[in-house]
Amino acid sequence: MIALQRDFYVVTEEEIKEGKVVDVYFLRTLETMRRLGISRKRVVAEIAARSLPKSRIPPYERWKWGVLAGVEEVVKLLEGREVDVYSLPDGSLFHPKIPVMRIEGPYEEFGALETSILGFLCSLSGVASTAAHVKIAAKGKPVINFGIRRNHPAISLAIERASIIGGCDGSSGILIEELGFKPLGTMPHALMIVAGDQVTAWKAFDEAMPEEVPRIALVDTFYDEKTEAIMAAQALGEKLAGVRLDTPGSRRGNMEEIIREVRWELDLRGYKNVKIFLSGGLDEYSVERYAEAGADAFGVGTRITGASPIDFGLDVVEVEGKPIAKRGIRSGSKDLYRCPKCLSYAVVPKGSGAPSCRKCGTEMKAAYVKMLENGRILISFESVSRIRERTLSQLRKLGLLKS
Ligand SMILES: [Zn+2]
Repeated sequence: MIALQRDFYVVTEEEIKEGKVVDVYFLRTLETMRRLGISRKRVVAEIAARSLPKSRIPPYERWKWGVLAGVEEVVKLLEGREVDVYSLPDGSLFHPKIPVMRIEGPYEEFGALETSILGFLCSLSGVASTAAHVKIAAKGKPVINFGIRRNHPAISLAIERASIIGGCDGSSGILIEELGFKPLGTMPHALMIVAGDQVTAWKAFDEAMPEEVPRIALVDTFYDEKTEAIMAAQALGEKLAGVRLDTPGSRRGNMEEIIREVRWELDLRGYKNVKIFLSGGLDEYSVERYAEAGADAFGVGTRITGASPIDFGLDVVEVEGKPIAKRGIRSGSKDLYRCPKCLSYAVVPKGSGAPSCRKCGTEMKAAYVKMLENGRILISFESVSRIRERTLSQLRKLGLLKS
């Protein structure tokens, strides 16, 4: 193996497609299978989550659902391999044990890609699922991904995209523009510190920025949030779109009270249109409390981009048409159906037809989309906003999100 020049130890897209990101035991397995002459046996494999991560909201129960992301990447990875792929589309809500994807073909064609297939799904679905839970905690108020600094820069765009699939309203990295979203952000404390005082900094920001950039002043650099919020409103007047409170974790006080106090003081002086934007160490628990206290929008970093991965596993369930699986996994190729009314899933043996929903009696619909046939891509890839809309419409349908 010739080592590439790697300044940052990053694997290239080409290398991923070539199967270089692989646990060596898959290669050893393939070598052994070839010796036995069984590497071309046609298998059916399915991918399901074993369990889901825990909520940050007491009593810290495990989530009941996640948001699927990474399917597009898997389809691109498997393009040109002799496989058929059936999958839920990106942005689908899924539950533990529900097979979200079915792959059929000679084992040799995809066996050694398992590491990367799962890598895409586990990591990106973890981010999307966390973003969705934060969005619900925010009661539908805007949630912006501010966390790209928490990841290796090489995967920043993939992570930002997944956060939007999960329901984030935007992200702060400038490359997000490639996906049709304007990068969002205000100013760091460094601006006020280098300028020496807040008012000079805010006024200069207003002068320097084009019209479409909302004037959101960071108001917790030198004085308390209330004092600086009033100062910002008086300095920028009508032009001030919002104030950002960035250090909820580090202040002595009760952040909910601070939010209510800032709201009160702004309203009292006629600045009812000035929004209160929160950021800094937020998770779904604090977002829920601050949304109730009157915060209007949230910048969430580490909680979303540092999300726990979903523990998807890939299991062979059929070999040469015969059902066979390891203990704990139901054998045989399966179809997945979904109730259009209550969104429940039903897993049935392949070809056994559409069941009625056990919960509401409605006739269920086939949930898989055939994505690849013999390595040929059958779908057209969707825009991120369309995938995001799929996520949000399911959350609305389940009553988890109002707007
Ligand atoms: Zn139903």
